[in-house]
Amino acid sequence: MERRPRIALHNRIFIGLLLGAVLGASAQIALPGGRQNEGLRWVNDTLMQPIGQIFVTLIFMVVVPLLFSALVLGVSEIGDAAKVGRVGLRALMMTVLLSGIAVGIGLAGVNLVRPGDGVDPARRQELLGSIDQAEAQKKASAEASAEVDPPVLGIVPRNPLLEATRALTGGIMPFMFFALVFGIALAAIEQEKAMPVRALLEGVFAVTLKIIEYAMAFAPIGVFALVFRTASILGLDAVAAFGKYVALVLVALAVHMFVTYPLVLRFIAKRDPVQFFRQIRSVIVTAFATSSSNATLPVALKVAEEEVGIPRDIGNFVLTVGATANQNGTALFEGITIIFLCQFFGIALSLQDQFTVMMLAIVAGIGTAGVPGGAWPMIGSIIVRFGVPGSAIGLVLGIDRILDMSRTTLNVVGDITIAACVAEMEGRSREVPEEFA
Ligand code: ASP
Repeated sequence: MERRPRIALHNRIFIGLLLGAVLGASAQIALPGGRQNEGLRWVNDTLMQPIGQIFVTLIFMVVVPLLFSALVLGVSEIGDAAKVGRVGLRALMMTVLLSGIAVGIGLAGVNLVRPGDGVDPARRQELLGSIDQAEAQKKASAEASAEVDPPVLGIVPRNPLLEATRALTGGIMPFMFFALVFGIALAAIEQEKAMPVRALLEGVFAVTLKIIEYAMAFAPIGVFALVFRTASILGLDAVAAFGKYVALVLVALAVHMFVTYPLVLRFIAKRDPVQFFRQIRSVIVTAFATSSSNATLPVALKVAEEEVGIPRDIGNFVLTVGATANQNGTALFEGITIIFLCQFFGIALSLQDQFTVMMLAIVAGIGTAGVPGGAWPMIGSIIVRFGVPGSAIGLVLGIDRILDMSRTTLNVVGDITIAACVAEMEGRSREVPEEFA
């Protein structure tokens, strides 16, 4: 009997994504009552939500052990502190460069299109009235949990275990700091003592990757469920009201993705952009479906090493730190959103204010947690400086998921792009392992 050819996993995930988008949107449009339809809500609550969450949670489950083992191994393999410093500095340089360009694209676009201008005051009142205040408040204070035993300067933890427990709710930086110091120290102690620790962490790292493989086998269905739910409850009326803004964000993201990244890949990483994008397909789809850089990290680590051929020590270090600290898509989005909300509330910004927004957006991109909606606490705290009510973020929350999916994709592609650039700068970009070449 002839065996049916197996469809490659990344293609199955992609099919799940397309089906979810098409069926979800069609359900919302075709069913009576739209997204409020009883049957649709039942399907979402009892099927799609749990299925999607199981997929995402399976990945989240291993983020802490994976992050720790990957970062410690990466740093200790790079070797001495000076070399770690050099790789880190190069990655940071690339982050600032890419984020700067991203925010520049966003600000140019938002000043050109001015999507928040000329809103009829009555319509503005109506839209403001529709804000879910409780939800907006919750988003704006997502980082409040860091108030117990706060890390010094927000980064040096007293109790790394405490930081590990809040790593997925915005407190990942202090935990990474601990791993970084641990890795540097591991490289500095006697070989004989370091070896068993390293062997243990290598085992932990391999186990976490295995668990990710299990989760990814489930990805086509998980991605379908996540995307179906989003497409079927996306506030289509809000999309219409904020059409210009949504379109602007998506176009600006696309420019960064398809112009900036390919140029950087070609001229700094010395790689063929088309081939690169093909190699990282499964990362792109995972980032898009989960809206989380952290949830995508395990897949990114695997693909960077096995498909793109980035040396493991560099990949582990740059990608792990980058999942939190390099968020070009988010920086671009934050720049546009802050100015859009100022325009919407009729607040005029001077050139100097715009410059401040640019700087804040770059820094906010670095400080944003790599979780769904991670950008909002940052945006909330910045807009109030300019006199926009904090709860105004509720205006955009109804459509945020689709924007979040898109900007997260750029965040993760940016991380791998930077890892490829750093590998090239270190003269190690062609270390493709034999079995993967
Ligand atoms: N969801 C984004 C990420 O994980 C963060 C954000 O922009 O909200 O990269």
